Amino acid sequence: MIVCKFGGTSIGDAPAVRRLAGIVQSRLAERPLVVLSALSGVTNALLGLLKHTAPSEQRTLAHQLAELVARHRQLARALELSEELGERIADEGQQLLARLAARPDPAGADELCDFVAAQGELWSTRLVAAALAAANLESVWVDARSVMRTDAHFTRAAPDRAVLGDLAPRQFLPLLERGKVPVTQGYIGATADGRTTTLGRGGSDYSAALLAAALHAERVEIWTDVDGLMTADPRLVPAARVLPVASHLEAAELAAFGAQVLHPATQAPLVEARIPCVVLNSFAPERPGTTILAGVRPAPVGAGESPVRSISCKRGITVLNVRSPASRGSTGFLRALFAIFEQHGIAVDVIATSEVNVSVSVEDSSRIEALRQDLERLGDVSVFPHRAIVAVVGIGLRGIKGLAGRIFTAVQSVNVEVISQGASEINVTFVVREEDAGEAVRRLHAALIEAVA
Ligand code: ADP
Ligand code: ASP
Ligand code: MG
Repeated sequence: MIVCKFGGTSIGDAPAVRRLAGIVQSRLAERPLVVLSALSGVTNALLGLLKHTAPSEQRTLAHQLAELVARHRQLARALELSEELGERIADEGQQLLARLAARPDPAGADELCDFVAAQGELWSTRLVAAALAAANLESVWVDARSVMRTDAHFTRAAPDRAVLGDLAPRQFLPLLERGKVPVTQGYIGATADGRTTTLGRGGSDYSAALLAAALHAERVEIWTDVDGLMTADPRLVPAARVLPVASHLEAAELAAFGAQVLHPATQAPLVEARIPCVVLNSFAPERPGTTILAGVRPAPVGAGESPVRSISCKRGITVLNVRSPASRGSTGFLRALFAIFEQHGIAVDVIATSEVNVSVSVEDSSRIEALRQDLERLGDVSVFPHRAIVAVVGIGLRGIKGLAGRIFTAVQSVNVEVISQGASEINVTFVVREEDAGEAVRRLHAALIEAVA
């Protein structure tokens, strides 16, 4: 069997859903399991509803929710699906409104957030399952919460792979064996006691990979709105090119440093199960896309190809600088520093150290103040918000003579703030101001990728 995951833009309107049905039809012999995101923009809109739960805002809340229901019903109509489906979508909208209007308990804010966000995938899968049925495909709608068991870490729940490995085959294999096309939600899961969770934003790719591993799939197809994994985000760099092949390791690095096209956790279950992944464009299904090879070895660099494979950036980063003259020569300082990050449950991205200074970048800025207070026990702390990490990802980068020089010549006009010293085999990263990130990516792409072609 194979897993076909479609992102939001691949379900955005009726022509997109018809294309999706054509793609699924063309894969029937391989027994596809269809995993879906919400329609594009819907998750953001649903999460936006949470700002209007105060009694004085009930009208705004009802109005915004009605717009979302209308968008889904219009799509159902454009696809000539049954009126019953439209009514079901409206009913679920009413239930959501009731839950939102019931003066949410602040302690359960994250839980409510997931309950609300999950509706996007629940609606999109109902629509697509019905559209596939209308195209004479024997689709079966499956609630992912019946298999995707997670912990109760709402908004970024961790899946229980053992439970999934038990439940998913029992749920899906009999359907696939009978020639059915199961359609299920990415991104969402549930705790053992049945409370809805999500795997974090962009998590549908991760769901697809987890399901593929649990079902020993032959391949995962990630259908999106670009031609594959590219040398940079084409929205930032119009000259970006598709990478025909990449390794799991490269794909994971790219995703970790901001290539939105794949959720950062997607590769891990695939590496273990040695399942290849293909990133494809649902707007141009005949194009070859990017094949991400099973295994962790970097894809070989062809003659005339640049060992620098891509440039990515991640915005919304905060840099913390801890200055502690007393740390000079002291062995326990870094351990004490990282213990504080660990206590706050905040993951660290880029690290740079000098004799008396440690700079650390973090993605999660929601709890910075509490973190800062604790870090002050170790030294003077400065906080720099609105930063971006720029990453040059490639193969054997450490061995390339003069690469650092070329990188920093390329971004001369941009103020580079933190340089990660331990440049790995596979990436070189640094921090810039958010507003400089686009410029830095374009310049690096021109100097390290376009210039070599
Ligand atoms: P989906 O809804 O299909 O999950 P996303 O919006 O999450 O799609 O991801 C696709 C987008 O990722 C593309 O439209 C592209 O702008 C962006 N992107 C960022 N970096 C890259 C990259 N290196 N290669 C391809 N796309 C990228
Ligand atoms: N719909 C979810 C989001 O927008 C999950 C996904 O698209 O992968 O984050
Ligand atoms: Mg995505």
